[in-house]
Amino acid sequence: MKAVVDGEKCIGCGLCVQMAPDVYEMQGDKAVAVKEEIPEDKVEDAKSGADQCPVAAITIS
Ligand code: SF4
Repeated sequence: MKAVVDGEKCIGCGLCVQMAPDVYEMQGDKAVAVKEEIPEDKVEDAKSGADQCPVAAITIS
């Protein structure tokens, strides 16, 4: 599975990075997905981060 952060929507709150630091990281004032492919054991964390994003900027597919 892959996570993509929409940089247009991201407000840089950092919540996704707190929820899943192995999946997301801050780059400047925006979050980005660290890797193209989410490691199998981090998928639930990645989804939690996406679910809690206040502006729904994260797509997991
Ligand atoms: S939770 Fe959403 S708005 Fe906050 S840093 Fe992550 S992608 Fe950006």
